Amino acid sequence: MNELLNATHDPQLRSWVASANEAGSDFPVQNLPFGTYSQGPQGARKIGVAIGSQVLDVRAAGLVDTADMNELMAQSPQVLSALRAALSQGLVEGSAQQAAWERFLSPQDSVTLHLPCRIGDYTDFYTGIHHATTVGKLFRPDAPLLPNYKWVPIGYHGRASSIGVSGQVFHRPLGQTRGPNEEVPVLRPSHRLDYELELGVLVGQGNALGEPIGMGQAEAHAFGMVLLNDWSARDVQAWEYQPLGPFLSKNFASTISPWIVTMEALAPFRVPFVRPDADPQPLPYLDSEGNRRQGGVDVALEVWIETQAMREAGQGPARLSQSNFRDAYWTVAQLLSHHSVNGCNLQPGDLLGSGTLSGPRPEQAGSLLELSMGGKNALTLANGETRTFLQDGDAIILRASCAREGFRRIGFGECRGQVLPARRLQ
Ligand code: MN
Repeated sequence: MNELLNATHDPQLRSWVASANEAGSDFPVQNLPFGTYSQGPQGARKIGVAIGSQVLDVRAAGLVDTADMNELMAQSPQVLSALRAALSQGLVEGSAQQAAWERFLSPQDSVTLHLPCRIGDYTDFYTGIHHATTVGKLFRPDAPLLPNYKWVPIGYHGRASSIGVSGQVFHRPLGQTRGPNEEVPVLRPSHRLDYELELGVLVGQGNALGEPIGMGQAEAHAFGMVLLNDWSARDVQAWEYQPLGPFLSKNFASTISPWIVTMEALAPFRVPFVRPDADPQPLPYLDSEGNRRQGGVDVALEVWIETQAMREAGQGPARLSQSNFRDAYWTVAQLLSHHSVNGCNLQPGDLLGSGTLSGPRPEQAGSLLELSMGGKNALTLANGETRTFLQDGDAIILRASCAREGFRRIGFGECRGQVLPARRLQ
């Protein structure tokens, strides 16, 4: 029995916002993800909830008294759960709120969606064991998976300032690279530019400096999840990453989706956390009964590419791969507990990346580095174009959804970003 479920997850619920009831909608009344939007790029920022093709102004509806998402995220799970219940009751068919709330709706395609919150700190983990193994083979054929991998959730501190919301465009980064036949490195545009298919956890309530978050409390500190594309310059990465890890190969741009799907919305899709018999069990500080029973989340993930040629021909994007967050080696609760075990304080709005989420099969890889085997095997796209790494004009679109028999499917919307040509060196 899943004690996380409540009346808001009832698959029978329908909304008076008709578009929310369409079968393919990512935002039925069972989802209710939060975002930050404005009327026009310069308009006042508001907290919105996505419902079908619309966004509801949550403050105008009288449900919150702030327009600041970080303030909302800092609230207790009890307060947030009551807010979700009130949103659900107000948006379901037959609700007495309909007449009042109709004027607080705007079509999503008429508003500007911003980063959903201020991201103070960003940490990227490495929970995709299939990614870690495949990439490890490319960088270190003799020791693909380092001996710590199955004991410690590996991560590095990333950079928050260059995180953008879906729709982000950025110039191909310059960086120091050294080719296999070159004696000295050269500063030049990266020619092995890649994406990484990830999910991001946005921290809700923080913890005080010096006070670790135990496994039993960890999920009370997770506000929700977004899609995350951790754009990566592989040639820069290969040259710079030892001994201190990724640096300029990762911090030129990272893109997240605008809607935060709350942990409560994900409740129907929780799955057990299981370790293969041959693998070590987590140390006690990374273990709990609740985590074993339902620490994982079944989130189906997809990567799509839209090249310049596809756009010019009026073709839609082509799918590159599919995978699932349930294959991650560590859970959301374990990431939060591990990150704070030394007393490190997490704050509302901090972003924890999952790491590239590749599935067990080669075609389920979450990066071009893996799909092209380090650039050796070019992929052929549906229109006949080939790719090893990204070319100028390429857009990458990440999508995610949760589906389970007996529940309404929910989705994350899109996380889209596009590569522009490198700027010329001054
Ligand atoms: Mn990453």
